[in-house]
Amino acid sequence: MAVPKSKISKSRRNMRRAHDALKASTYGECPNCGELKRPHHVCAACGYYDDKEVVEVANA
Ligand SMILES: [Zn+2]
Repeated sequence: MAVPKSKISKSRRNMRRAHDALKASTYGECPNCGELKRPHHVCAACGYYDDKEVVEVANA
């Protein structure tokens, strides 16, 4: 098994972790119903994508 040759300093460890933060996922407004939806995904509230109904929604 590969073993690190030397200790990673606090500085290098923290520099590596500077990129670890999670970003909040982006949302846009559905043009059909106004509900927030994820870009490039079918709207979960109305089942529309690209101004067409593409999937049935259970209670709509
Ligand atoms: Zn919608």
